Amino acid sequence: VAFLQSIPKAELHAHLHGSIPISVLQSLARKSKTSNAQYNDSITKGLKILEDGVQLEAIDDFFGLFPAIYSLISNDENLATVTEAVIETFIGSVDGAPPQCQYLELRTTPRSNRNMSRRQYLQIVLAVIERYPADKVALIVSLDWRMKPQDALESLNAIVNLYQEGRRIVGVDLCGDPQAADVDKLLPFLQAAQAKGLAITVHIAETAANPEHETNGLLDLPPSRLGHATFLNDEARARVLKEKIPIEICLSSNLLCKTSSSLADHHVLHWLKQEDHPICICTDDILPFRNSLLGEYALLLAKPPLGLGLARSEIERIAKQGMESRFRPRPPVEVVAEQED
Ligand code: IMP
Repeated sequence: VAFLQSIPKAELHAHLHGSIPISVLQSLARKSKTSNAQYNDSITKGLKILEDGVQLEAIDDFFGLFPAIYSLISNDENLATVTEAVIETFIGSVDGAPPQCQYLELRTTPRSNRNMSRRQYLQIVLAVIERYPADKVALIVSLDWRMKPQDALESLNAIVNLYQEGRRIVGVDLCGDPQAADVDKLLPFLQAAQAKGLAITVHIAETAANPEHETNGLLDLPPSRLGHATFLNDEARARVLKEKIPIEICLSSNLLCKTSSSLADHHVLHWLKQEDHPICICTDDILPFRNSLLGEYALLLAKPPLGLGLARSEIERIAKQGMESRFRPRPPVEVVAEQED
């Protein structure tokens, strides 16, 4: 553990609402009890699944976990509370233990409701993030496969405006239920964000059913990083290798969502065989998966079949690649004082 704790690490693939500490969610649930028995019941059931530890038949079951979480976090106070709790979980010293990582790129999908617009949602999250140093935390804004074009447009406008106002957004992500994927619908929004200077990362080939047209369309962007990339075909793999696109690897997430049957079959082994191809080890959603960044690194170190049995020098190299794959915030715009005559 001391070795794993000592190496500088970056967490580059963590979804905000998938990373809330269960104790924080339980406390919000206690406060949110209403006279609506049906609402209380749905929250209790949703929390019980998370408390017991999720058992998923397949990745399709995973996305159904989120509505109960969202119903607890529909106002600005709760959104700020969970954002701070997630940041502290990764870069703070929880119970005196050293931080999980030195740098966190947190991602979230802006949602609107009768209390807030998507821009207000992002402003609340950014206000918390910006209380921390820029070399510690930054925001990636996610678009979701399920978004209607007008929702994606509202998100894009909010992202670009806040970015141009100098707020700490470093990139844009594409995520959500791959069954709802429609690349032609969302690609133009990613292209527009990229044209404004934002880095792009995309969940790609997360399931075996990814159409070639979708994968090629996303690779054409080209993205600056890839999430999962579990089922890329040989041609796509060759392209990713040639273009040296870093891959965000989430071992426990893939095992629990059953997109990888075992560590011995995990696609990370393919990338580890390629000389120096950049990968970064990430957690994805520590709330349902009950993992931690340190735990993911422990899987690299532990001997098979529990882990991959990698050498310490290799783990150090992987951690360094993670740090080097960050989407760094732009340096602050220098304000040049006008000279007086
Ligand atoms: P949020 O963006 O802060 O609301 O975080 C939760 C959301 O992230 C979920 O509703 C999903 O849309 C997305 N998400 C979390 N994990 C995954 C994943 O493994 N694949 C695709 N989308 C994901």
